[in-house]
Amino acid sequence: MPESIAVVGLGGMGAGAARRLLDQGQRVMVWNRTPEKAAPLVERGATAAQSPGEAAAGAGIVVTFLADDAALEGVVLGPDGIAARLGSGGVHLSMSTIAPTTARRLVDAHVERGAAYVAAPVFGRPDAAASGQLWIVTSGPAEAKAKARPVLEALGQGLRDFGEDPAAAHIVKLAGNFLIAAASEAMAEAYTLGEKCGLDRTQLAEFFGATLFPSRIYQNYGKAIAEHRYEPAGFKLKLGLKDMRLVLGTADASAMPMPLASLLHDRFLALAAQGHGEIDWTGIGLAVAREAGVGPPS
Ligand code: NAP
Repeated sequence: MPESIAVVGLGGMGAGAARRLLDQGQRVMVWNRTPEKAAPLVERGATAAQSPGEAAAGAGIVVTFLADDAALEGVVLGPDGIAARLGSGGVHLSMSTIAPTTARRLVDAHVERGAAYVAAPVFGRPDAAASGQLWIVTSGPAEAKAKARPVLEALGQGLRDFGEDPAAAHIVKLAGNFLIAAASEAMAEAYTLGEKCGLDRTQLAEFFGATLFPSRIYQNYGKAIAEHRYEPAGFKLKLGLKDMRLVLGTADASAMPMPLASLLHDRFLALAAQGHGEIDWTGIGLAVAREAGVGPPS
């Protein structure tokens, strides 16, 4: 492990990751735009920095968990940002879900100062971050990945590497979130079909999760969709909307038609426009049910 690790961005995921590193006995510097969110971590032994740059200075490794591309670019390239202070030999472990094009811009900012960018987006919720149970996909320079490995192993139950291209892991993450959202839409339609025909939607979800689709997505997301249980949000719907925008942007740049991604984007957009941006992204089940004239009252 490096001497000290910085965690920048203390939303659900970043706070969970910082807590995990503290539980593992690491020295952790933290920074968050809203400084109050650092308090529970400081109580557990973290040191609060006044800026992202201060957090990065002296830390061998900086973990970032920011909401979106603009927030990440702001803390890396902005005034007293990470790039200016990370220092030669430092590693930026970039764990947010962002566009591959953003990753390429950040690589350049680090490389010209002797530091390195490792893409390390994750699958798993804040509780998985706090308990070291994330699935982490990586890409970037081999030496930097080797340096970051102990941190990745502390945060994840499994790592998969996708080579040296720093954009690669971000594309894997976008593909994965597309698959999850598509499964959510499919489950919502199937269970609502059952309900409209007089069946118990929770029994349907339990049956498929236990037999044809025995996976965490069909079991956990399936149960939430069947029960219309969308709060508290583990992953906010407005971030799901952001991810479908990233999928479509990447698809457009690659001349890759993705009609299903367009539908999912519009689902999230409509729900956000109706004021549901803060509920869980499985809330897609709400839109499907209401379109069918069933579901919980608004
Ligand atoms: P979150 O709880 O909404 O936290 C967002 C974080 O970004 C907060 O620390 C927030 O600071 C910060 N932020 C937002 N705009 C900012 C800005 N302009 N400048 C500086 N900081 C800014 O989100 P999250 O669930 O932790 O997700 C973080 C990232 O992980 C996202 O890219 C998400 O897609 C990805 N992810 C999430 C999950 C999940 O299940 N939650 C799973 C995998 C990946 P404030 O506290 O000041 O608002």
